[in-house]
Amino acid sequence: MITKVKGTHDILDMTLFNAVLAAIKKHVALYNFSEIATPLIEHTHLFERVLGAHTDVVTKQMFTLHSEKEDESLCLRPEATASVARAFVENSIMQLPWKVFTWGPMFRYERPQKGRYRQFYQVSMEVIGSAEVAGDAQFITMLDRLFSQALQIADYVLHINFLGCTDDRVAYTKKLQRFLAGNGLTMCTTCSVRAQENPLRVFDCKQEQCQQSLAQAPLLTESLCSSCSQEWDMLLEQLDLLSVTYSHNPRLVRGLDYYNKVAFEFLSGRLGSQSAFCGGGRYDNLIGMISGKETVPALGAALGLDRVLLLLEDQENLTIMPSREPLYVVIPTEKAYHPLALQLSDELQSHLFTTELIVDGSLKSALRKANKYGALYALLLGEQEHKEGTVTVKDMITGEQQTIAQIDIVSFLR
Ligand code: AMP
Repeated sequence: MITKVKGTHDILDMTLFNAVLAAIKKHVALYNFSEIATPLIEHTHLFERVLGAHTDVVTKQMFTLHSEKEDESLCLRPEATASVARAFVENSIMQLPWKVFTWGPMFRYERPQKGRYRQFYQVSMEVIGSAEVAGDAQFITMLDRLFSQALQIADYVLHINFLGCTDDRVAYTKKLQRFLAGNGLTMCTTCSVRAQENPLRVFDCKQEQCQQSLAQAPLLTESLCSSCSQEWDMLLEQLDLLSVTYSHNPRLVRGLDYYNKVAFEFLSGRLGSQSAFCGGGRYDNLIGMISGKETVPALGAALGLDRVLLLLEDQENLTIMPSREPLYVVIPTEKAYHPLALQLSDELQSHLFTTELIVDGSLKSALRKANKYGALYALLLGEQEHKEGTVTVKDMITGEQQTIAQIDIVSFLR
């Protein structure tokens, strides 16, 4: 048997997926976001340049493709922010802020487990050209309202941290490096490498020994310059004003290099170890890294659709689920009446009635199927109906039958 590729999954019913996506689209439209699409393949060096050469995504998780003809390295996108930023620069977008969202599959070579796949779906939302703290506060509030009100996700938390400006990060990184080198700490091999090459990333480690070693580590928010410190206070004040509940997590650094200032994550204990279902922050230097020119401040977030679906699958009475259209089933009693049944189905569908034509099996099995589908009416066509130009309409709930003229069927069903 040929099986699916490890870490991928089939979605055999897209109803909830589409309902979630529709609710997200409706919600972000309230904040004046518009939808864009970027390619699934990009030049590998786009991600090497912007995500950071030492990040897990770039060192271990990229699905790269080699194009023989062009002699270039391409890859399946591991995330969309870099692609959106590339599109912003390449298309010389002038009207700021550029508030866009995009959604689709992302690819990372990870060790698969519940909520962690090699092909997964994200909605990526970006605001390019906004520097103000109020922009951060509104963006985070938009996400919080999305989860609490539009999607009604039960019991989640918002973790938030402030990474400071580039100077703060440089100063803090040195401080952290001194702490990591000078305290005889026991850390895992990965973190020993991180301590040298990308110290902030040690906070991502879930290993007990590393967590313990970091308990006394200096905190980023204690090393902020006065302007960043003021911004951080202002952000929290504005979130309080909007009644957004958050928890300050001083160890939240996020896995990618391009973040600065605010960083946040929405988490739920119901997801197990892969508890984050949305993460984001500010990335003021990203546009400059791509354009090689003056940067444009920006912020964004990526929402993991697979994990949001896992959360909602567990919940009852979802208000986002669309109500089902009533279903009509057309059943010819014999092969001779298939043409008549085809015409009737066609007519019903042209009048926008959801119609299923059952031509396989006996009348009995067809009625059983109609029942299973939850049909409202079964429309039976046999010898008598053919002769008299009628349809026998069976109410699938009460079992009652009536004879209706074929020419009146549409108005009857209405
Ligand atoms: P990131 O792009 O790593 O900041 O991730 C943003 C969100 O995407 C996370 O909070 C997850 O919900 C989701 N996500 C990231 N990686 C995966 C994965 N391998 N499988 C499923 N969801 C993922």
